[in-house]
Amino acid sequence: MAATTMEQLVSLCKRRGFIFQNADIYGGQQGVYDYGPLGVELKNNLKAAWWRAMVYERDDVEGLDAAILTNRKVLKYSGHEDTFSDPMVDCKKCKGRFRADHIKDGKCPNCGASDLTEPRPFNLMFKTQVGPVESAENIGYLRPETAQAIFTQFKNVVDSTSRKLPFGIAQIGKSFRNEITPRNFIFRVREFEQAELEYFVFPGDDEKWHEIWKNERINWWLEQGLSMENIHIYTTPSDDLAHYAKACYDIEYRFPHGMEELEGIANRRDYDLGNHTKAQEEFELEAHCHQNPDSTTKLCIRDDESGKWIVPFVIEPSMGIDRGVLALLTEAYTEEDLGDGNSRVVLKLKKHLAPIKVAIIPLKKNSEEIMAKCHELKNKLMKLGIGRVQLENTGNIGKAYRRHDEVGTPLCLTVDFETIENKPETVTIRDRDTMEQIRVSTDELPAYLREYFL
Ligand code: ATP
Repeated sequence: MAATTMEQLVSLCKRRGFIFQNADIYGGQQGVYDYGPLGVELKNNLKAAWWRAMVYERDDVEGLDAAILTNRKVLKYSGHEDTFSDPMVDCKKCKGRFRADHIKDGKCPNCGASDLTEPRPFNLMFKTQVGPVESAENIGYLRPETAQAIFTQFKNVVDSTSRKLPFGIAQIGKSFRNEITPRNFIFRVREFEQAELEYFVFPGDDEKWHEIWKNERINWWLEQGLSMENIHIYTTPSDDLAHYAKACYDIEYRFPHGMEELEGIANRRDYDLGNHTKAQEEFELEAHCHQNPDSTTKLCIRDDESGKWIVPFVIEPSMGIDRGVLALLTEAYTEEDLGDGNSRVVLKLKKHLAPIKVAIIPLKKNSEEIMAKCHELKNKLMKLGIGRVQLENTGNIGKAYRRHDEVGTPLCLTVDFETIENKPETVTIRDRDTMEQIRVSTDELPAYLREYFL
């Protein structure tokens, strides 16, 4: 089977309402995308699957939903103000600006000129002003990662939940990076969502937990439908690690543009908690750094056995939701030869991720009886809690099947004259992948669908 191309995905996403370029009517805003009617469902389903696995199915993780607007001091002590930058070069000829590591053979990727400046750091954070007065104290940032609020709220979470090590705090939310060269559709964008877990462990246990989380996360991706042959684990060389990291694995995926990072799993050691912890002489910490004159709090936990205060180490699985959506679309997109000179596009998403779970299709749109039955079924089935049940209104059954194959709807349910005339009432259920059809009585439908989806 031919590999999925970015053009196929971009076209499907626009045509069927998954993803649109932001500010499209004004020529588009680079590196910013909007999720359409089906995209928002897919994205929500992916986030729900992550939350279920990371929070609900575990007994050692709490959730958090912190603000995007971030106090300058947080990003000063996290190291982002000083170090969160990519070296960049400017082309003196065309005035383009590019990441130094994206330059090949010393030539401008835009115009080919060799007249480039020396690499200079470029801070990737979006700076803003908080409140009416423009001053250094009022500088704020849109967060470049969700993680920092997990660290700054560490004590509040521990105090309110009485957690002991090891335990984690999970969060899903928007992050912003002023990427120099956003590209490859939703792969590298300036506004994106992250799902991050900060898992706090005893120092010394960190390497063991790093391995455990690497395996957990690979398995989770396989459960979402990615195949192992499209996954590669990259171990970051020590001289290329982020400023906070002791070690890092990247789960890479074979995107249409190449094998690239989908999720990072970093050992952030005690860097962040240590840096945000109040400097105190009487308080002996072995943390990475505790020279913080601005913090009011010690971000540590008492070890019941030794009675000592310790700053935990942290393992961080951090995935991009948008890259997750792109990986799922890449994997699921299938062109099938039907053998009769026809072909079809099928989005073979796992059913828990499919934007629409069941499409109810009237055989004839202008039959009042059929339409009444469709409405009745829709009202009944949407109460099952299986996700979105959509009443299809094209009135052309072939077109409806084609559309729902293309957007990954697992089941199409057709209401025809037999439905109304037969006792007991029955509907046809068509399976997306096998295209097989069976008749099921409407009385048995709720149990059938519950069994299928839940
Ligand atoms: P890259 O090397 O690709 O720039 P990164 O190593 O800087 O990524 P992290 O800081 O580890 O990324 O962020 C964790 C996750 O957040 C990444 O694995 C990715 O899925 C997502 N992510 C980071 N930057 C972006 C971006 N600009 N657009 C979309 N997703 C992103």
